[in-house]
Amino acid sequence: MHLDALDDPAITAEVERLLARRTRDIRLTGEINRLFRARVWSQTAKIIRAWMIWVSFLDVLTLALYMLLLPRAIALSMLLPGAIIPPVVIAVVLIWRKPRALWLQGATLIAGMFLILLSVALVGASAGGEFYERHLSIMLFVAITAIIIFSIPLDWTVTLATLALALYLAFQLQNPGLEIGSAVAATLFFASGVFATVAARRTMTILAQKTFLLELRDRRRVAELAAANDQLKLLARTDPLTGLANRRWMTETLDHLWGGRRKIPGGAAMLMCDIDEFKMLNDRLGHAEGDRCLVKVAGIIQANVRYDRDHVARYGGEEFLVLLPGLNEQEAIVVAERIRESVEAAALPNPSSRASRHVTISIGVAVQSQTEVDTSPEQLQRHADAALYLAKQAGRNRVLLHKPETSVRKNGPAAR
Ligand code: GH3
Ligand code: MG
Ligand code: MG
Repeated sequence: MHLDALDDPAITAEVERLLARRTRDIRLTGEINRLFRARVWSQTAKIIRAWMIWVSFLDVLTLALYMLLLPRAIALSMLLPGAIIPPVVIAVVLIWRKPRALWLQGATLIAGMFLILLSVALVGASAGGEFYERHLSIMLFVAITAIIIFSIPLDWTVTLATLALALYLAFQLQNPGLEIGSAVAATLFFASGVFATVAARRTMTILAQKTFLLELRDRRRVAELAAANDQLKLLARTDPLTGLANRRWMTETLDHLWGGRRKIPGGAAMLMCDIDEFKMLNDRLGHAEGDRCLVKVAGIIQANVRYDRDHVARYGGEEFLVLLPGLNEQEAIVVAERIRESVEAAALPNPSSRASRHVTISIGVAVQSQTEVDTSPEQLQRHADAALYLAKQAGRNRVLLHKPETSVRKNGPAAR
């Protein structure tokens, strides 16, 4: 199925327009008709090829039986017209092995069918007698089976039906054992049957087309639902202000990374970042300016971590949690210090802050310990929070690493 067709609004509108009609009024045209043909082609072609091969097989079998059972002269007269079918079938089957231009498919099928029907009629006409009438009936029977099972465009089906009836009439008019009136009457009789079959074929095709339209509609609806669902999931996990992951997403990410183990393989560091004196900023410059500050700080943090491996979330009002997989203490401190410096360097105003005249940030760092048994995400978070608390107490605008004997690290690569 061509999935891109489902995105085409013109196709979508056409599908709905067609489905709004009564079933018997459904007519596929243009692109939808092409899509329908493409969808059913392989099945149609398979049925046509199989039918042709069977007809050819039965033709050869019949001729062989006639050779055994009938007087030699009669059987021999049937051989030449009967020999038309196998090469015709081979040609049609070869053409119908893969999709060709529509006109070529139609031309080969109709020409092939004409020759097959002609062959059946000629076999009877050559043998004469009881075979004349019998083979014309067989010819109509062959035509009717083809009309019923070939899922082809309606005009091709009508052409096949007309050819079969024309052949029937032409041969019956030549039938020495039949008057003209009887020939015409017999043709009319069979014509009603043949065209009832054509009508049945048409209904089957329309039902198949309706099924196809419903399938297109279903696929589009499923795709729309899936897209809406993805969008909802994303919204439920994203912080609308900064576009970062929210707390729920971060919790999911941590659970996924730990995967029920006590430790994350390869280690990890966690940064708990909190804007200093943010309440002051809000109070002095207004909530809107506070929001702008949050967006900028979020961008600065995101810009200072590895896009493909690290995870940043807005964890609370002005708190950001960063997970740095695979980083040890020194590396985590370098990243945290880089974030702190970048926020300071951005020189966003916070005139009432006691820490600086600009926006600053304090960061508590915790690293998955080699020795401790339990380094669950919650434990790591508690450690990062504890370090952040101490960083605030020590005067803000600093990075502090959690250790059993925690030491302060202020404004630059000073000793821990
Ligand atoms: P500290 O240096 O100790 O962290 O002080 P602080 O003022 O930053 O911390 P506090 O927890 O006292 O204040 C946090 C403020 O953040 C209070 C709240 O109004 C503000 N805040 C929380 N969410 C938002 C938000 O989405 N937008 C804005 N503008 N402000 C927010
Ligand atoms: Mg704060
Ligand atoms: Mg806070």
